Amino acid sequence: MAQTQLKQIIVLGAGVVGLTTALKLQQEGKYRVTIVAEILPSDHKSIRYTSHWAGAHHVYNPLNSTQLNEYEKETFKIMWEMSAPGSDAHECFLRINQTEHFYHPRELRGTTDPIESFPDFRYLTQEELPPKCIYGAKFRTFTIDTPVYLNYLSTRFLSLGGKMMRGSVMHINQVLEGGTSLLPGGHEKDQLPDAVVVCVGLGARFLGGIEDKNLYPIRGQTVILRAPWVRTGITETYGGQGTGDSVTYIIARRSGDVIVGGTRDADDWYPKPREETMEAILTRALSLCPHLAPPEIRSVRTPTVDDILPLVVGEGCGLRPARKGGIRLELEWKDGKQVRRKGKLPVIYNYGHGGYGFQSSWGCASKVLELVATALSTTAE
Ligand SMILES: Cc1cc2nc3c(=O)[nH]c(=O)nc-3n(C[C@H](O)[C@H](O)[C@H](O)COP(=O)(O)OP(=O)(O)OC[C@H]3O[C@@H](n4cnc5c(N)ncnc54)[C@H](O)[C@@H]3O)c2cc1C
Repeated sequence: MAQTQLKQIIVLGAGVVGLTTALKLQQEGKYRVTIVAEILPSDHKSIRYTSHWAGAHHVYNPLNSTQLNEYEKETFKIMWEMSAPGSDAHECFLRINQTEHFYHPRELRGTTDPIESFPDFRYLTQEELPPKCIYGAKFRTFTIDTPVYLNYLSTRFLSLGGKMMRGSVMHINQVLEGGTSLLPGGHEKDQLPDAVVVCVGLGARFLGGIEDKNLYPIRGQTVILRAPWVRTGITETYGGQGTGDSVTYIIARRSGDVIVGGTRDADDWYPKPREETMEAILTRALSLCPHLAPPEIRSVRTPTVDDILPLVVGEGCGLRPARKGGIRLELEWKDGKQVRRKGKLPVIYNYGHGGYGFQSSWGCASKVLELVATALSTTAE
């Protein structure tokens, strides 16, 4: 197909959601896709870009037979293949044995817990449970080295002919009327967008024309340790997402770094790590996983937090883009007259992924692909 016949799609946002969505659209070969974002994956970490801060691993939300569950299932299938030895993406992932300890019942919607579908799944026996733990499970899943994976996605996207431009958008109408011509590096003859896909995470709370007040942050603080001897994952959960109750997790990455966390504090906008929280995280993490301490120390005595402090190579915090009502994934037609264009213009929303943007990314991108195809095949009145 000649380049001029391709429909132009602008994807706003270059976090995991925008990158996966743009890549999925670009892979179709039917569209000319341009990502426009204020912060790009190769930039320094910023509180305005959540994806850099995620652990991350895939552990299903406790919602069986829901749309979100379908998105997570599709994503697991794709990422499991990506994490297979020999895949061109496998360096971004580490397949692990995961253990979960629940100190509260998972609020299940559906008859079974989706975690039961993980490979090698089994519930822990009474003898295996720590004191006060209600139940637990073991299964196979993977962790994602998020900065490496984000760069992998953007490289794949660019190598397929996608374009990426830096731009801070104040109002959605700027993009609908001017497209990329308004941006540094843009040209007045740039093709106007036939569709705009909004993947701006928490930014949708502030972006003019959207200003979705259902979005709120769930702040998560983590510490990064250099502990290549840790090759398994473990989580203990005391409450649901955003309840403020503590969750402790150990996420081992392929690189040998281990992300330990964490916190889940709704409506907490504080953009820097808090020192007292870091100490609390390390104390909880060591008690959950004494294996974090170097083997030579463990072989002679019980390790303390002082033994793992020299392993700290980073710390951080990110704002999970949570949304009352869940992910917004829908098509809206905007009146072209408002932006001096004819007919109706499709805008597709894909934001509000809370603490599960990685593990739902591919499923949500498939839904966007469907919505874009529907929109562009519809003759808008
Ligand atoms: C500590 C922590 C642990 C986590 N662990 C996991 C996990 O284990 N598994 C999992 O699946 N998820 C996890 N998450 C959640 C996950 O990180 C998020 O769901 C995901 O990163 C959201 O991605 P996003 O692309 O929607 O947003 P972001 O990554 O924030 O990207 C938003 C993009 O939009 C751009 N943008 C915003 N506003 C504008 C504007 N006006 N103009 C132009 N560009 C704009 C930004 O510059 C950026 O490029 C975790 C999060 C945290 C903080």
